[in-house]
Amino acid sequence: MIDSMNSFRKRLRRFVRWFCISRPHALWQRYLLGFIFIFVTISVSHWASLKTIEAAEDDAEVLSVSSRQRMLSQRILFLMSETRHDHDPYIDQRLESALNLFESSHEWLIDRPDLSPALRHLYFEQKPITLDAFSRRFVQMVGIAHHAEGAQAEELHEVLAGWGKNELLISLATAADLFRAESEARIKDLQFIQRTTLIAALVVLLLEALLIFLPAQISVNTAIHRLELRKKLLRKSLRELKSRNQELVAARQSLTRAANHDALTGLLNRRAVYEHLGRPQTTEHGADYTRCVMKIDLDHFKQVNDSLGHNAGDAILKHVAQTLETETRENDIVGRIGGDEFVIVIENPSSARVVDDLAKRVIRGISKPVLLNNVQAQIGASVGYTLAVSSSATSDQLLIEADLALYEAKRAGRGKSRGYSKEMVAEIETRRILFTEITRALAEDQFEPYLQPQVYTATGEIYGCEVLARWRHPERGIVPPGTFIAASEEAGLIDQIDRVIIEKGLDILEELLAQGIEIPSISVNASPNSLRDPHLTDRLLNEVAARALHPSRLTIEVLESTLIEKDDDMALQTISRLSKAGFSVVLDDFGTGYASMSNLSLLQLNGIKLDQSLIKPVPEPRSESIIAALVTLSRNLKMNVVAEGVETARHFQTVRRLGCDVVQGFGIGVPMPKEEFISWYHDYTAPSRKAGQVK
Ligand code: C2E
Ligand code: CA
Ligand code: CA
Repeated sequence: MIDSMNSFRKRLRRFVRWFCISRPHALWQRYLLGFIFIFVTISVSHWASLKTIEAAEDDAEVLSVSSRQRMLSQRILFLMSETRHDHDPYIDQRLESALNLFESSHEWLIDRPDLSPALRHLYFEQKPITLDAFSRRFVQMVGIAHHAEGAQAEELHEVLAGWGKNELLISLATAADLFRAESEARIKDLQFIQRTTLIAALVVLLLEALLIFLPAQISVNTAIHRLELRKKLLRKSLRELKSRNQELVAARQSLTRAANHDALTGLLNRRAVYEHLGRPQTTEHGADYTRCVMKIDLDHFKQVNDSLGHNAGDAILKHVAQTLETETRENDIVGRIGGDEFVIVIENPSSARVVDDLAKRVIRGISKPVLLNNVQAQIGASVGYTLAVSSSATSDQLLIEADLALYEAKRAGRGKSRGYSKEMVAEIETRRILFTEITRALAEDQFEPYLQPQVYTATGEIYGCEVLARWRHPERGIVPPGTFIAASEEAGLIDQIDRVIIEKGLDILEELLAQGIEIPSISVNASPNSLRDPHLTDRLLNEVAARALHPSRLTIEVLESTLIEKDDDMALQTISRLSKAGFSVVLDDFGTGYASMSNLSLLQLNGIKLDQSLIKPVPEPRSESIIAALVTLSRNLKMNVVAEGVETARHFQTVRRLGCDVVQGFGIGVPMPKEEFISWYHDYTAPSRKAGQVK
């Protein structure tokens, strides 16, 4: 029950909704319905009007005929009385025509198909005599009375006059009244129909207004409202689309920027630089070259990054970028193509001098100290560049040439600039061959130690010997270290050579000691690369232990340049570890570089080796005073002093006078293979020879 109620309500609601809020495109159905309604009602109304008019006309005739019957009955009676006394043919004729008219009118009246029951009753059923029968008898009686004579006529006339005055007249009057009433009723009916249909049409119109125009208006309003809403929404989404589009454009721009620029420095990135390089070169009148590719590499950037932190590293990179931007012109391409690698591309540089000046300015600019968190930091840079004479030089070729020039600049000692030249290729090729040869030499054990004696200045006794590497080349014979040390360093092979020489040196020491040749210690050279090996100390300890030697019998010579140029934490740590392990550590080539005094005091150094360049000018007073000062410094730091490059007796006497503890040099003995060294030893220690004698 409740269910059916609910479903009915639901249906009703749906219907009401359908009825009241029609969708605009379904309104035509209502219009059609309304139109049919109005058409029908107006048609009916029209028909009713026509019918009313028709009925009115018809009724008017019936009314006049029925009224005329009453009048005719009186006229017949009057004419009858006229003719009774005087037979006038004219009156007879009029009587006859009145009678005919009365008779035909009566026939016409009773022939009407739509007689009302009251009239039908009056005409055909009324008792004691129907009007029909009465009327017919009247006509008949008038005919008879007209032709009757005498008393019969008198009697008939009297009867007729009675009828005429009373029953017939009343009946005819009743009939006329009934006809009028009937006509009025019919007209009233028709008027009712007409009025009703008119009202129905009006109601339909009203309903149409309510159910069609109003809902239509509502629907149209709703639709317009919806459209406006949609328009608003569309406008909003259009605005949003526009702003999205703008965002997209901005994003695309920043993406393109990001794709082409280095996020940190804002310079062009590798991709953008290479893309530019890929573009064809132009030849400009008055320019010597079509293009210059310059590569800038920061010196020891990794160490700055490691020691000062990445923020400092970033600040330095920005400083470099700033410098490059300042030093270049607007049209020049400036990019960062690697961690600490920068490129400048100049189109149509006017001359090589202009480019070289730029390279120098760039180096100077970069080397300016930068303040990082109140700490001054400084970085160096090396620059290599190449100049294209013709536009046929490919970008790859130019980049390789700039790389080679940069490599040469670095080889020249950093902080330098180099322009590419064809000879560089030859040099590099030579080095490449050398590198292959050194690798093979290591594999074939072609490196061997030469020994150079060192003696005390005071007593002339043997202090030890320096073990120096020699390369026994299968074709070129003995090759001095000057040819291969630097190349081995660059190739990263120097630590292997160091290792071979140290081990062979210790072997010799062990052998000599076993032969009773008393050599207190040997000195070996440790390259910066070897010093960076964290296992060096342990390995050396193992080496000496394996030969039952005390660590103090091994002196490690470290280059003064190791301490400053590399500013190398790792190497400094190894030096301190070596010293703690009991090895002797001396600073080699002292006086050539610029060893920081702070490092000298920090490190546990056992001594310094004055470089040959300090000894060679002796007896020049200036060098003598430098030697004297360095000796004083060493004394204060409790370090002994070895003078290297002592070639003459003069040298020897001077350095001895100035306080050097030990001497080494051609004057004592040249570097020599083991066998020769043994002979030298025997010769030197022969009783006939005077201590400290220099040849
Ligand atoms: P250094 O360590 O300063 O070695 C001394 C150099 O001076 C030696 O040259 C020696 O022959 C030379 N010399 C010694 N006394 C005199 C002298 O009175 N007059 C002249 N003119 N020269 C003298 P060498 O053997 O050619 O070695 C050159 C450099 O090669 C060495 O300089 C050293 O730095 C490096 N070196 C040699 N062997 C090795 C090695 O095994 N490892 C490493 N890392 N470097 C080595
Ligand atoms: Ca040395
Ligand atoms: Ca030296």
